[in-house]
Amino acid sequence: MGSGQVTFSVPSGPSDFQGKHVTVAGLGVSGVPAAKVLHARGAIVTVVNDGDDARAREQAAELEALGVTVRLGDGATLPEGTELIVTAPGWQPDKPLFRAAGQAGVPVWGDVELAWRLRGPDAAPWLAVTGTNGKTTTVQMLASILRAAGLRTAAVGNIGVSLLDAVLGEEQYDVLAVELSSYQLHWAPSLRAHSAAVLNLAPDHIDWHGSMEAYARDKGRIYEGNKVACVYNVADKATEDLVREADVEEGCRAVGFTLGTPGPSELGVVEGILVDRAFVADRQKNAQELAEVSDVNPPAPHNIANALAAAALARAFGVPARAVRDGLRAFRPDAHRIAHVADIDGVAYVDDSKATNTHAAEASLAAYEPIVWIAGGLAKGATFDELVAKSAKRLRGAVLIGADRALIRDALARHAPEVPVVDLDRTDTGAMLQAVTEAKRLAQPGDTVLLAPACASMDMFTNYNQRGDAFAAAVRELDA
Ligand code: ADP
Repeated sequence: MGSGQVTFSVPSGPSDFQGKHVTVAGLGVSGVPAAKVLHARGAIVTVVNDGDDARAREQAAELEALGVTVRLGDGATLPEGTELIVTAPGWQPDKPLFRAAGQAGVPVWGDVELAWRLRGPDAAPWLAVTGTNGKTTTVQMLASILRAAGLRTAAVGNIGVSLLDAVLGEEQYDVLAVELSSYQLHWAPSLRAHSAAVLNLAPDHIDWHGSMEAYARDKGRIYEGNKVACVYNVADKATEDLVREADVEEGCRAVGFTLGTPGPSELGVVEGILVDRAFVADRQKNAQELAEVSDVNPPAPHNIANALAAAALARAFGVPARAVRDGLRAFRPDAHRIAHVADIDGVAYVDDSKATNTHAAEASLAAYEPIVWIAGGLAKGATFDELVAKSAKRLRGAVLIGADRALIRDALARHAPEVPVVDLDRTDTGAMLQAVTEAKRLAQPGDTVLLAPACASMDMFTNYNQRGDAFAAAVRELDA
């Protein structure tokens, strides 16, 4: 079901929910606040939730005390009289609830759509970012640049701070740096950003969207109705195609970013300098220096691409060049994203536990040479041939951990038979210390031991944070 095909009969003003029957699909981080806000605006709210555990009962009790109806253990049936569904972004579009809604002509909004509809008439414009990888980093760089320009802003969306809080809270903003996932975009049909960027597009979450085409189409929604700039990745043609297909406001421009020398209407890199040939007078002849590559933290190629995308959005908003430089200098990446842990005996140990898919791992492997690669975990249906073939010449060795490590081992045997591989046949948490010990044995001075698993972590760890912490702890133990 494409959310773009639905017509919206529910008006959007702050008091328009009075007396409307709204079904909130899913308790949890977005459902509970949505139910509260809608109830406070006079809607007759029913929450439906698949699960019926202790946490759900606790949340249900809290909402019921306010007068909200909650149905636990049944997220499939459309409540009688529903005029609008507000869904948690993760709910899959092929669920029976949405089929029933489609048949009944009931619109479905996600958390982002709700926030978009509820923002006031003088609300801050949104600079939006999506992509398979690099979203959080880019949005944080963007917020840092906007702050350096003296603007009141926050990094919000799929990043911790909910859009509903940002839009309805006390704090006043000049502009918001918004991270959007493909799920959120699927359920946000009327969102119209000031400017937006799609950083890259690689297969991910295909089960949820149904196909690569549907995934790309949902990512592409971010460009719909853009006012000033649609920012795309010159090296990733699929992102440019999405710009071409978007219906934007008159005068909105396509702006590319590239790690090479920029053409007109692009941002790029010339001799170690980030330059802008899009937001300058006479872009045929002129370019504006923004920052040095060394101002980007860390200056790995994919991260420079993230910085250029952030700079493009900031420049589209009219931010001066100096603020781009100051903002990039002030930016500190979140943990487990190419974090330098230690140097031991001339070998660098780097934690990129957040590289949970092959596209991310490929970027990370492109940033170092030679590498002893620690990889493996849950493959989520991925194949590793392309990643290994592209990275083979940089590998000193590989140490494999986790449930699906055989997939990576087989790809290494096919594309890099000369690379020594240690296959650790264990998935207990202690495996990380053994993995780091083996990596140390393979590494030579000048090498980098890189944890870039290309897989999810849940077979061995609670999440990628815990996996990265285990790596860092193991490195420290070796160093002790
Ligand atoms: P997201 O929010 O999209 O998951 P993050 O900024 O948290 O992205 O980065 C996740 C991981 O993706 C990083 O650890 C890094 O391995 C990789 N990565 C970051 N930026 C890029 C990029 N532009 N292209 C490819 N991979 C990237």
